[in-house]
Amino acid sequence: MDISRHKCYVFTKHKDTCSGCGACKQACKFHAISMISDNEGFLFPVLNKDKCIECGTCDKICPCVGNKKENATQEQSCYIATTKRKDYYQESASIGICTMVSKYIISNGGYVFGEHHVKLLVLSLSYVRNMPIFIL
Ligand code: SF4
Ligand code: SF4
Repeated sequence: MDISRHKCYVFTKHKDTCSGCGACKQACKFHAISMISDNEGFLFPVLNKDKCIECGTCDKICPCVGNKKENATQEQSCYIATTKRKDYYQESASIGICTMVSKYIISNGGYVFGEHHVKLLVLSLSYVRNMPIFIL
């Protein structure tokens, strides 16, 4: 397989060019891509070379590859926040901000909802409204 013309993580294995979005897996009609967790729990695509026909669809769909000029030239803005509380950010994939916001909502009488994937296309929702769920 000549992978030199392919640019996405599926072929390059350069983690800085992959957000783990899974678009390549969804786009591959030949089921040649699986999303597998790395040792930190982040999903990355893994190629089954026996199924791949090198059609290049994964490269075309990948948001981290190619000439995405329409995105690159538009000014973007975002908010970034974290917490100084080590016990929050060490236990959190959101570097602590989700715990802080959730705590604030619950302490003001609100509910916090979460979701997890039970299996493919099956989503489970749960909520909390009491403080003891947090490690304070
Ligand atoms: S090149 Fe085509 S067949 Fe191969 S993994 Fe990408 S989308 Fe699937
Ligand atoms: S589409 Fe690109 S960014 Fe998304 S998982 Fe595949 S290789 Fe990574």
